[in-house]
Amino acid sequence: MDHRSIFTPGSLLGIEPAHVIGGVRRTDGSGDPLPVINPATGTHVADVPTASAELVDEAVTLAVAVQRDWGRRSHTDRAKVLRRIHTLLGEHAEEIGRIVSVEQGKPFRDAVGEIGGAQNFFEFAISQQYRDIGEVVATEPDEQLTVREVPIGVIGAILPWNFPAAIFARKVAPALMAGNAIVVKPSEFTPLSAMALAELCRRAGLPDGLLSVVCGPGRETGAALVGHRDVGMITMTGSTRGGREIMSQAAEKLIPVSLELGGKAPFIVFPDANIEQAAKDAVEARLWNAGQVCTCNEITYVHEDVRDEFLARVTAHLAAITPRDPFDPDSTLGPLVAAREWAKVKSMVDTAVAQGATLAMGGDRPPGDEFAAGNWFAPTLLTDVASDMDITRAEVFGPVLSVTTFSTYDEVIERANSTPFGLAAYLYSGSLHTVMRALDDLEFGETYVNKAGPERPQGFHTGWKASGIGGDDGPHGYERYVRRKTAYVGYGPTYGG
Ligand code: NAD
Repeated sequence: MDHRSIFTPGSLLGIEPAHVIGGVRRTDGSGDPLPVINPATGTHVADVPTASAELVDEAVTLAVAVQRDWGRRSHTDRAKVLRRIHTLLGEHAEEIGRIVSVEQGKPFRDAVGEIGGAQNFFEFAISQQYRDIGEVVATEPDEQLTVREVPIGVIGAILPWNFPAAIFARKVAPALMAGNAIVVKPSEFTPLSAMALAELCRRAGLPDGLLSVVCGPGRETGAALVGHRDVGMITMTGSTRGGREIMSQAAEKLIPVSLELGGKAPFIVFPDANIEQAAKDAVEARLWNAGQVCTCNEITYVHEDVRDEFLARVTAHLAAITPRDPFDPDSTLGPLVAAREWAKVKSMVDTAVAQGATLAMGGDRPPGDEFAAGNWFAPTLLTDVASDMDITRAEVFGPVLSVTTFSTYDEVIERANSTPFGLAAYLYSGSLHTVMRALDDLEFGETYVNKAGPERPQGFHTGWKASGIGGDDGPHGYERYVRRKTAYVGYGPTYGG
């Protein structure tokens, strides 16, 4: 297949990868362009220019100018533009899905599903046109005291590569609805989806300059965006390392950040659980997007009494999954996003085995010529995993299901909470008492009980501890994109004319 066909003239991506600044496609770059590599084939897809600090400054300066008018428009007026973006997303779902699949590697069918997810973020943002935007507080006679929300101004959004379209929408939709302008820096691995989405927003009638896309490395282009004097808030999804660097740079300017970082979700199976459901979901929650989701099942804790039954069922579900070309309609497992991520996952599996884990399935590239190129990793099962192994502590972000056993409630809660991360957790039990106690005791921002994800746009996706600060989605996620203004209005007889 000719993957370059994603660059057809007249398509959302047009013929040339470019930054989008003030509605104009710009190919000026500083330094070496960044190659985009198809993770399924290892073939070169495009070279993307790197935005200099001057180009970032151009984007932010335009954003400041355009935001003033956008921020004054009514919520319903802004919602109309967002509604048109929502409609165009539906109309172009396959075209954008194709771009997502080619640069990120997920099965095309899932990539089209991701565009549906992107629409959901717009849908929720549109619903905020009717929100309460402030409070009137009891005060003295002849005085009105109001506290209302207003836009921040210009938002800087720094995106990861695992959901290049959905996370674009997750940040752009609430930022725009709240009256802000936004400058997006996509991941180095997946910049093409953001370019196509920016073009779609332009076609939907979003004023030029309100949304710009600048491409380049995090520590250069990303840092220029974070450090720009007129950027008033940073929202970022990515690694804990990147989040720390961004937060310390933002601290210099004293601007707020919302960081959604790595995870180490425990998947806990109590002995009274529906074991078949738990086994099926353990595999699904692990292999979704080839294991590259911050909420993935990173470490499965199964009670020792049900270990054998659980493992037999998990093995059957895992064995039924075979990697396939992302454009095969039956594909459910694609490659890892980059050779670097493949090497990291391989090294984590090898280290776990060296430290005493049992490799029950996979552990390497799947057999077959079709998987010789690209970043393919076979569905992998590690058993006899222990608390002191590296794989129990660090985020794997790959299709590696690690299973360990426990014997008591207190033990498993203590072990699950001992990770530095605190994003998602999974609980499987038929006992209301166990579930409710565990919901109280687990130190994670988001817990799934007797069901797998994903999260919903009206929830609150918030990481505790090393998983982040702030969060996305729902009314609490929307809050990150506003600040508050207090007014004391005197209207007694002695005031005014
Ligand atoms: P990363 O944090 O390096 O990159 C994420 C984004 O942040 C990219 O756009 C990058 O350019 C930018 N960035 C990085 N450092 C920056 C800085 N100092 N200033 C400004 N921007 C900066 O993550 P990665 O290298 O793409 O992935 C590494 C690991 O992070 C993965 O293996 C995985 O464990 C985790 N990760 C988590 C998620 C998630 O959904 N929470 C997403 C992607 C990666």
